[in-house]
This record gives sequence, structure tokens and C-alpha cells, in this order.
Amino acid sequence: MAKIILEKEKCIGCGSCQALCPKCFQIGEDGKSHIVGASVNDKGNEELEIEKPDCAKTAADACPVQCIIVE
Ligand code: SF4
Repeated sequence: MAKIILEKEKCIGCGSCQALCPKCFQIGEDGKSHIVGASVNDKGNEELEIEKPDCAKTAADACPVQCIIVE
């Protein structure tokens, strides 16, 4: 299992994560990225446990502000 965390406050809405991994990331009406199916943790960040992080790692590497964490 892996966990994807999105530090939403840092997101600048560039769209790279959605382009690289649309099954995990979608740009919302607020102009920021959201993890599809995520819950919000006590820090206000989105997180989701998934079987295989595959393209989420690619998206994390490409994020210009490094606000996607895959652990
Ligand atoms: S790549 Fe990073 S900054 Fe760009 S939309 Fe996704 S989370 Fe936001």
C-alpha cells in the first residue's frame, strides 16, 4: 500500500499532475489540484491510500512546488 498526500495550500494549479496522472489528480473549481476520492486530514491536506502509486509518483516528481508526497 502507498499513501498520496496533497498539501493543497502550496498548489499553484499548474495542471501537471492532472496531465500525468488524471486517475489520481483533478483540478477543481478552486483552481487547485485534488486527489480523486481523498479524505481531508487534520492538517487540511488531502490524503488517499492506494494499492499502487504508479503515476502518482511521476506526478509528485513533476510538481513544481513539491506539494505531492507519496509514501
Ligand atoms: S503539479 Fe503540483 S502545483 Fe501543479 S496542479 Fe498538481 S499539485 Fe498543484
